[in-house]
Amino acid sequence: MAKTFAITNQKGGVGKTTTAVNLAASLSASGARVLLVDLDPQGNATMGSGVNKRELKKSIYHLLLGLETISSIKKYSQNGKFDILPSHRDLAGAEIELVDVVGREIRLKSALSEVAHEYDYMLIDCPPALNLLAVNALTAADAVMIPMQCEYYALEGVSDLVNTIKKIRGNLNPRLEIEGLLRTMFDPRSTLAQQVSEQLKNHFGNKVYDTVIPRNIRLAEAPSYGQPALMYDPSSKGAQAYMALAREVLNKH
Ligand code: ATP
Ligand code: MG
Repeated sequence: MAKTFAITNQKGGVGKTTTAVNLAASLSASGARVLLVDLDPQGNATMGSGVNKRELKKSIYHLLLGLETISSIKKYSQNGKFDILPSHRDLAGAEIELVDVVGREIRLKSALSEVAHEYDYMLIDCPPALNLLAVNALTAADAVMIPMQCEYYALEGVSDLVNTIKKIRGNLNPRLEIEGLLRTMFDPRSTLAQQVSEQLKNHFGNKVYDTVIPRNIRLAEAPSYGQPALMYDPSSKGAQAYMALAREVLNKH
């Protein structure tokens, strides 16, 4: 049965999508069966996996509204060697269209439960918001993976997210855990980054991954070729860091 992780942080641009795509590719390269779920209307994880969102006739939008099945929207990322449920701009409308739908928070959970036996990991790339889409992800997930930059306001953002996780635990998903906090775009020369990193460890202890993702230009370039860093430049520091993260995740489970 797959472990399902929601990769989330309501703060934008912290490395959620980069983590989703590169961890998916690294887990797959390590022999795991992986499904990447793009739950962001921006469709960055879709494009970054080499699936052209502009050519899609169906996307996760149709799945959430119950118009299509998983097998009819699922694509294979040749570049990342994993399956993907692609996203499209349409998804932005799902938020409103689902408002009157019964069980609107459990749409994704119900859909994923049908294919959970086919995978070892299902990774959900969330939008930078705590909206209905994010609630669907947190309801479907076993645990939350939180990418964050070690900056001044980062801890405040994480504590808002932890409060949301507690609320979700209270009603929609009692088993929801924090899988881990991932330090992204890390610059070891920055004193502030080191201080925030220390505070994070004091507060969250072993929930903070040992693996740190450095700021690495290859990770930023790879999406424009529709490739995970592991394909674009496998020896780069970025690709290697995500391989290390995959090993850490695999050792934990
Ligand atoms: P959003 O909230 O908009 O969905 P996000 O949290 O998914 O953003 P990303 O899209 O992964 O964040 O990253 C934001 C930007 O930073 C992107 O341009 C990405 O290529 C770049 N980036 C992410 N991680 C790194 C890294 N470790 N080194 C260098 N650039 C990075
Ligand atoms: Mg993103």
